[in-house]
Amino acid sequence: MLELGVTYSVRRDLLYKGTARVEFVETLFTGGRFLVPPKILVIHFTYGASARSSANWFRDRKNPGSSAHVIVDRDGSVVQCADFNTVCWHAGKSRLRDIIGLNEHALSIEIANWGYLRQVGDRWNSHTGVAIAKATLATHKNGNPDGSPSPCGWEPYPEVQILSATAVATALVTEYGITEIVGHDDISKGRKWDPGPAFDMLRLRARVFGDRGISGDNRLRITPSDGLNLRAGPGTQYIALELLPVDTMVDVLQREGQWLSVSVIGSNSKPRATGWVHSHYVDGE
Ligand SMILES: [Zn+2]
Repeated sequence: MLELGVTYSVRRDLLYKGTARVEFVETLFTGGRFLVPPKILVIHFTYGASARSSANWFRDRKNPGSSAHVIVDRDGSVVQCADFNTVCWHAGKSRLRDIIGLNEHALSIEIANWGYLRQVGDRWNSHTGVAIAKATLATHKNGNPDGSPSPCGWEPYPEVQILSATAVATALVTEYGITEIVGHDDISKGRKWDPGPAFDMLRLRARVFGDRGISGDNRLRITPSDGLNLRAGPGTQYIALELLPVDTMVDVLQREGQWLSVSVIGSNSKPRATGWVHSHYVDGE
């Protein structure tokens, strides 16, 4: 299981680190209580200087009004801005399959990070002009914010920050039965770029959901003797594309709750199709 050295937990919709409540800086902008229990966790970057500066932004009436449940700072410290039973305004116009508007269905973790950087000579600056020592060069999976085809600079996430975010996400999954972790850039494609390519979402999912690691050996075997449906999406409500026979091998691309996005390996050992299978019916080699 997770060996992070930092343990977070939730009690009465409040976040604790060990036995102490984490700092609480209450946002002014919420949408009241969840009408349905949230089963999705959305990861963001703040595009800002620090967790505290973003927490204060969530309290400033001069702003258009945005909020998130938790902010994780670069040093790994954590600020909670709203009870977990409360709708926050973090997703905006957003969609995940048939769910429109994720605010009413999701908890949120903001990660303090400048996101997309500006190149100034051989150096990198934040959009506010703060110098960033080192940039991660990458192209965003949905296309770069400036439309350029070549890799651009993103602020790296320190490991201590990732460890805290992972531990907080694990606490939320444990308490609320969260089944899916997505990026803002997965639900507001073309409009949002957070948490972006510097954030290893597959690693986060693998660490939080445990068992079938997405990193490392991710080739699995279809186990039911009467085969397993390959579906168009992560659920039985999606159409079956084909029936995969027992012993078919698949490579895991992504995990969403109990469902795995897979690449089906053909008889020539090359990928021949993609789709979704339920994780219960696949097994390691
Ligand atoms: Zn966001």
